[in-house]
Amino acid sequence: MTHNGDAGVTDAAGPGAARGTATTPSALAPRGCAGALSEAYDVALLDLDGVVYVGSAVVPGAAEALREAASRGMRHAFVTNNASRTPAAIAAHLTRLGVPAAASDVVTSGQAAARLLARRLPAGARVLVVGGNGLRIALRERGLRPVSAAAERPAAVVQGFSPDLSYALLAEGALAVTNGALFVASNADITLPTARGAEMGNGSLVQAIVAATGQRPVVAGKPEPPLHAEAVHRTGAKRPLVVGDRLDTDIEGAVRAGADSLLVLTGVSSAADAVLAPRGQRPSYLAADLAGLLEPHPEVTTADGAARCGGWTARLDDDGKRLGLTGSGEAIDGLRALCGAAWPAGTVTAAMARPALAELGFADGDSADGDSAD
Ligand SMILES: [Mg+2]
Repeated sequence: MTHNGDAGVTDAAGPGAARGTATTPSALAPRGCAGALSEAYDVALLDLDGVVYVGSAVVPGAAEALREAASRGMRHAFVTNNASRTPAAIAAHLTRLGVPAAASDVVTSGQAAARLLARRLPAGARVLVVGGNGLRIALRERGLRPVSAAAERPAAVVQGFSPDLSYALLAEGALAVTNGALFVASNADITLPTARGAEMGNGSLVQAIVAATGQRPVVAGKPEPPLHAEAVHRTGAKRPLVVGDRLDTDIEGAVRAGADSLLVLTGVSSAADAVLAPRGQRPSYLAADLAGLLEPHPEVTTADGAARCGGWTARLDDDGKRLGLTGSGEAIDGLRALCGAAWPAGTVTAAMARPALAELGFADGDSADGDSAD
């Protein structure tokens, strides 16, 4: 599925800029929601790391917010790009952290990859697994047969993260791909956040087979559509809300799936990243954390070149060279106003946004590199 409309285009704003599908009005400003999100959406599709937990610690307030959202009728599922663990293992981990979960509440990119393969291969087809147990179980659930040697002539190779991945298994995968097997990756995350920093993710390991074979995989995980489609399929969501901490996976995945999304600031993407978000990675809603599910979201209104939200007014001043902010109120409303001023212009840089973000108490994010929004 290609993704057009952002190939170097700098929109001149205006209502005409909101062309495209009816599901992407978030491109020009964060949206308002008169009631709590937990009442406007039936299922929250929650990313895990950076949303529910960070490394080994639960995000403060996450368990309480999910419990309260559930009591108001919003169901949730945990949707993860990591295919190394089984849903049961992830559910047990969440429960230990104080977030009660059943295996059926968890949707992994391994499951999405297995469904993708089952649609393309005959029942019982052999699939070489370059990855962990979660992936093997997901394949068996779809009637496919996991194998581990190219000599077994697998119809496909599926690669997912496993900390125990060996050269021998990568070599089997590369041989099978060279022999014509369909190549599928559970996800293409280049790095994996750990307590020590960013370690190699599945996307980096996939590059070993890409380099050896010249073949690129079909990817199931975020931001590609199959994983969110799998989550909607499994939950029966009519009006899903994707909740994530990363613009380039969770939020882009939501935009591409045509779903509304909430960016929470407890993980990778910062307030500065939100202001600088390129088209295609702009969330419908912004909140500090999962408590944002329980609240109405004030409208961002634009008039006379200014964007207003709560008590704040943001505008591009000095011939578009400075992102100015005036007013007072909740910091998150100020951030929403800044997005409403920055997104239509598409020309705001990190340096331009920094003073206004500092005024709201948002420290410099990791994207303070001066790149423009597009
Ligand atoms: Mg995350």
